[in-house]
Formats: sequence, structure tokens, C-alpha cells
Amino acid sequence: MSKCKIIHFRDACIGCGSCVETSPGNWEMNAEDGKACLKRAVQKNDVFVAEIADIEIEDNKYAAQCCPVGIIQVVNENGKDITND
Ligand code: SF4
Repeated sequence: MSKCKIIHFRDACIGCGSCVETSPGNWEMNAEDGKACLKRAVQKNDVFVAEIADIEIEDNKYAAQCCPVGIIQVVNENGKDITND
């Protein structure tokens, strides 16, 4: 099991839906505020964090690269940002 994580700086989400299209297994839209929600995430201060499986890494790196406001990060087990690796 991977220890890679997704970090979502949700406050700045503009609700474009790109992450949901790219990786529907990890993302869904919230009908109440129109922002994306990271599935199975834990809130830590003002960000949401979720561990992901190896098979989910590439789709979420792509989701992060496509996010127009750059508020998705994929980090490895050491906390290094691997979004653009
Ligand atoms: S791609 Fe970024 S701005 Fe668009 S819904 Fe997802 S998190 Fe929000």
C-alpha cells in the first residue's frame, strides 16, 4: 500500500469539475457549495488530506496538473511534492 497522499487546499476551489472528470474515484462535487471534495479525506487545519493507492497516483497527478488554480498536490511518503514528476 502506498503512503502517497493528495492534499487539497479546498478553500480556493473554483468548482470547475476538472478533478472529478479526471479522477472520479477520488473526487466528487459538493452540491451545497459547488466545490470539489476529496473522497476519504481528513481535514487538517484548512486543507484536506487523503492517502491514495499506487494505482491512483497517475490519475491524481494529472488532476493536480489540470487544476486551474493549482490547489491539488500529490506528495510521496516523505512529503515531497511529486505532482509534476
Ligand atoms: S480542478 Fe481544482 S478548482 Fe477545479 S474543482 Fe477540482 S480542486 Fe476545484
